[in-house]
Amino acid sequence: MLMGLVLANLTHLPAGGTLLAMNVIRRESLAWGAPATSVPTATIPYYAWPRQPLPDVLVEPLPDVEVVDGGARFKIKASKVFPFPETCLPDEAFAREALEVDLADPASIAAFMSEFGLLTDRGGYPLRALPDPMKVETLFGVRRGRPDYASLGAPSEWPSPQPPDFFVFIIPAEAAAEHLRVLRTLVGHWRAHTDGGDVTKPWTEFGYDLVTRGLLRESHWPEESAWFLFSWYLNTALEVFHAHLALPWGIFPSTPTTYQALCLQLFNHIVEGAGFRICANETCGRFFWRQRGRAKYRQFHTTGVRYCSRTCARAQAARELRRRKKGAST
Ligand SMILES: [Zn+2]
Repeated sequence: MLMGLVLANLTHLPAGGTLLAMNVIRRESLAWGAPATSVPTATIPYYAWPRQPLPDVLVEPLPDVEVVDGGARFKIKASKVFPFPETCLPDEAFAREALEVDLADPASIAAFMSEFGLLTDRGGYPLRALPDPMKVETLFGVRRGRPDYASLGAPSEWPSPQPPDFFVFIIPAEAAAEHLRVLRTLVGHWRAHTDGGDVTKPWTEFGYDLVTRGLLRESHWPEESAWFLFSWYLNTALEVFHAHLALPWGIFPSTPTTYQALCLQLFNHIVEGAGFRICANETCGRFFWRQRGRAKYRQFHTTGVRYCSRTCARAQAARELRRRKKGAST
């Protein structure tokens, strides 16, 4: 069923033309509907459109995110004044700030959202940007495993009466955490791919029942399944990005969440052919591709770069200088 779907998608792609950016994930076995051991050598092509990075998306910082119900939920105030206050995500936030949030600590998630905006949808269905679990069941015949998953998608509560100057809404803390968990899995998948590692591992660690049980653990095609999930999750998040006009009313369906803006950063990273480096500052060790604070906005050096930021470069240089001085004096 799964492979049939993938094959159907591939056969509908145009065979050439200006819209395609084609790459090959790997050059090994690929066969549809047969065990992996008996297949001829083939390739898995992937196509990205557009092939250039999309413009940055602005997100809405939410200064007032309150952890309530013993950490189970967030009570959030957002501006009612259109246009809403907006800010750019820092470059590579998908691989930096978003990976540094402590998912077990609601206060850490709240702090992230205060600075960079809401991870979930604010409206009736917080999980809008994630694949529909019902579709998962229908397609693959697997039951979603996390017992609380359904409750995460429950409509937000809208306390009433609403104050005149801002919206107040409540979202389950776990729904916000789930978006970051998915993002980390997507980033982990892409990092494994660019490093020549195992792309199924991030999904297994993700522990989402449909993945481990339905698509990976019982699959003859764990790697293909992982790629299928990667594209499914990423594409669901990217669906929001299309040409549109925003109005003071009814704008929410076309307002990307911060999770979606982070996924767009990942997409841009992919179509730019970027990889990941580890910062050479001993006390940092962050993943990055471009060094921050080295040039004007969106002008980056990517070759010969060893540090994630100028700050790290200076810190390590100072450390090495201290060591040399110490070595010279003893
Ligand atoms: Zn660093």
